[in-house]
Amino acid sequence: MATFLWSDIVFGPIHSRRVGTSLGINLLPVNGKLCSFDCIYCECGAMSSGAPRKDRKMPTLAQVSDAMSRRFKELHDEGVKVDSISFTGNGEPTLNKDFPEIIDKTVELRDKYFPSAVISVFSNSTTLEKRGVFEALMKVDNRIMKVDCSDEQLLNVINKPSGTYRLERVLKNLERFNGDFILQTMFFKGSVDGCEFDLTSPALVAGWSDIVRRLRPAKVMAYSLDRDTPVAGLMKIPKERLQEVTAPLRDEGFEIEIF
Ligand code: SF4
Repeated sequence: MATFLWSDIVFGPIHSRRVGTSLGINLLPVNGKLCSFDCIYCECGAMSSGAPRKDRKMPTLAQVSDAMSRRFKELHDEGVKVDSISFTGNGEPTLNKDFPEIIDKTVELRDKYFPSAVISVFSNSTTLEKRGVFEALMKVDNRIMKVDCSDEQLLNVINKPSGTYRLERVLKNLERFNGDFILQTMFFKGSVDGCEFDLTSPALVAGWSDIVRRLRPAKVMAYSLDRDTPVAGLMKIPKERLQEVTAPLRDEGFEIEIF
């Protein structure tokens, strides 16, 4: 599998019809993955393969501020209009110990150079009890939080958390947003270590739908595999099937975006 790692702190701009001109920010090592999960579908590669482990050094607040200040000014001076600034990168952005201060700096630079740009953070929802993470997430426009399914045993197979993963605890932490967040879920099917699963099976869809009803997120982003996965034999769920399994929630008034 081709491992896909970002090699800069600030990357892009990338142009997309959906979000316009977008800049990405990587708070993780520039040549390695660092995450509290090791999802079997992660495009950064599997930690167990060794390749993504090469680099474990996270950029500091000073390095990130420097990189953002330089690049934002450069693009501003070139007349580029940035619509979106997204924290994604090589792992879980909130693991950077300077995450709260970096968010403050990003808001300051956004207001200075691209006041209409939207700041988004993609997170796997495991770090909401860490110092300042919840408060920092409340300062950005979009908190895009991952929960892939309602079955804790299966979550341990597909997300491979590094510590003990307690779904109820994660959900309780997400309830603190009072629905002011975006829920992201990856749907796929396959067989891993003798465990066969389909995240669009009626039982798993029912459990996941109950999570949506309980958390009442402002929006749900449901998507499926797009690139090669570190684990062989995983299968993409067609868009039409995602539309079908999410239809009841849409009928109940939830905003569901399918990718
Ligand atoms: S949470 Fe994201 S970065 Fe972390 S292993 Fe899963 S897909 Fe990769």
